[in-house]
Amino acid sequence: MGFSLYVHVPFCERICTYCDFPRVLHDPRTADATLSLIARVVRALPDGMRERPVATVFFGGGTPSCVPAAAIAAILDAVRQSLRLSPDAEISLEANPEDVTLDWIRAIRDAGVNRISCGVQSFTCAGPLGRRHTPQRAVEAVATLRAAGVDNLNLDLMFALPGQGPAELDRDLDALLALSPEHVSCYGLTLAPGTPLARDHAAGRFATPDDDAWNALYARLQDRLAAAGYGHYEISNWARPGYECRHNLRIWEGADYLGLGPAAVTRWKRWRWTEPVDPEEYVRRASGCAWPGEGPPPWAGQAEVVTATGADIETLLTGTRLLRGFDPARLAGRLEEACICDLRAKGLLWQTDGRIGLTRAGLPVADSVLDCLVAALRGPEERLE
Ligand code: SF4
Repeated sequence: MGFSLYVHVPFCERICTYCDFPRVLHDPRTADATLSLIARVVRALPDGMRERPVATVFFGGGTPSCVPAAAIAAILDAVRQSLRLSPDAEISLEANPEDVTLDWIRAIRDAGVNRISCGVQSFTCAGPLGRRHTPQRAVEAVATLRAAGVDNLNLDLMFALPGQGPAELDRDLDALLALSPEHVSCYGLTLAPGTPLARDHAAGRFATPDDDAWNALYARLQDRLAAAGYGHYEISNWARPGYECRHNLRIWEGADYLGLGPAAVTRWKRWRWTEPVDPEEYVRRASGCAWPGEGPPPWAGQAEVVTATGADIETLLTGTRLLRGFDPARLAGRLEEACICDLRAKGLLWQTDGRIGLTRAGLPVADSVLDCLVAALRGPEERLE
């Protein structure tokens, strides 16, 4: 019955060369107005939302570490005072290594944050990605987090970087493993259209790995993290036992989540909506505006009722990313058996009595497997609610 709360802090001190996430350059005045508003929205949520326990909270971005810790604390105070925050709630916050100081992390921990996700991305290739930190700064940031008592730490890494081969990936992994995080997220670089990095690539300024080389890097990542004691539980996520990200696992398993802040997405019962993307528009539209019921707030940017088809696709989307797969009963027989048999025969899917998931051979081609599964769903006209 509990739900998860996501707070989007879309402000960044500098825009990374590969980034196409919802973010803007940090302007303290707009950030202050946005975060104060989020705290006020929390205090005035509809009754139906206030009655359910909050199982996890996640501050993502953008760069939540570039705003004052007091603004994060004020939102968490509002959550504690106005909602039913579970006593053992996981409360995560994404941090840029450049922002980490002892005073900051102490204030963040005092506010109640008990999990930090630190965006290292690369120890050897941070410059071309437009990251602000040096490798040494990333190491110092982790030392500072540990000195302040952070004992649930994720480090974000990227692979398939410009010019990266197995030796360069090994150097990044050596540096990461030396810091012994409890959790590792590792995503392949995507060249999003319109980004500076994509333009440089199109202009021939650097090469990225082809499919075979990409698969070899991913396999190397799997092997090295497994050898270091990390369990692979989601296509891009590894953890020491007991340190899987509870927030993301709940969302991948289909739990309701409430997203607050510019561009945040909510899935609540049969509804899905997105907050206005631009922070100034978000503040303008949501300030002083009442939220009367459990449906989308009046200021929501986009809102829709999730159809049964949409819910099925989401089950497949998340279920194919989780190493433990998904329960086909959630699709109530709407997935054609022939497709599953075909993908199993190709060695891309495994199936047990109660679960279906991707094999090691299926993981690198997860998108194609997903396309096949979605195409094998029975016709949408049978499932529209
Ligand atoms: S810190 Fe994250 S959100 Fe901000 S510009 Fe870089 S990749 Fe984008």
